[in-house]
Amino acid sequence: MTLWPPGRQISEHVHQLTIPFSIPVAPNRSLIRSVLIHLIVDRRICLIDTGVSGSETPIFHYIRTLRRKPSEIAMIVLTHSHPDHAGATSTIRKATGCRVAAHRAELPWLEDPSRQNQERPIPGFNDLFSEPVHPDIEITGGGPLEIDDDLRIDLFHTPGHSRGSISAWFERDRVLLTGDAVPVPGAPPIYDDAVSTAQSLLMLRKIPRIRFMLAAWDPPKKDGECYKAMDDAMFYVQRVHEAVLRAGGPTDPDPRYLCRQVMEILGLPPGDINPLLMRTFSSHWNTRDRKDLFSSR
Ligand SMILES: [Zn+2]
Repeated sequence: MTLWPPGRQISEHVHQLTIPFSIPVAPNRSLIRSVLIHLIVDRRICLIDTGVSGSETPIFHYIRTLRRKPSEIAMIVLTHSHPDHAGATSTIRKATGCRVAAHRAELPWLEDPSRQNQERPIPGFNDLFSEPVHPDIEITGGGPLEIDDDLRIDLFHTPGHSRGSISAWFERDRVLLTGDAVPVPGAPPIYDDAVSTAQSLLMLRKIPRIRFMLAAWDPPKKDGECYKAMDDAMFYVQRVHEAVLRAGGPTDPDPRYLCRQVMEILGLPPGDINPLLMRTFSSHWNTRDRKDLFSSR
């Protein structure tokens, strides 16, 4: 019997797999989380993200349930460098010989995980992402990416959550894979740059006739739900902005104080306060001269 939840087929070629992992938050307490990664299965296989260290086991298992082989993985496309997206990349590449593509702005944190841990620490980082990743393909903007003969995706540079976050559009099935680029209303908002997050949402919103939108932390959306999810995300980011402006007051606030105040205004649990949220709210505070993040100016 397998312990991990099975993957599921979303469209003709795209599959989604839930990768569970735990984050140690106290000596005897761990948070159980899970992240969604995606496979485009054609003559060869393309992985969109790999999950944390050790995720090769459920990924390879799932590929075998499709009566395919892990050696058929041609490429890993990383939406960004965070451990829950990139942690198993090196192991999978060594096992399969596949190529790895990532945005150039993510390289410093992919090639040096300890630097990522210093600059954006999360509990248990070294267990989630230990082996450096050296991508074969450095993405600089957006545009088409050939995975294999006849298998192509279009990439969008969608910074905000991180500087080099990318989203992938698989036109053949009309599937948009967004990684962590689309914030989920009611969940703690995690991004480095509020203005870029807003601009990336506006860019993705223009893609016509999306059939499925697949994110790393949110259930699949279909047809009209995709556009509603992006509209809701935009509304949420603007709401966070207004909460920060309200909570900040006339002088530079202490980041922890600002975080507590904003969480209260947004109705988020105070127990969720963490350094990642402080980064988000500080980025809003740094653009406080701008009242509407979605207006063009
Ligand atoms: Zn992330």
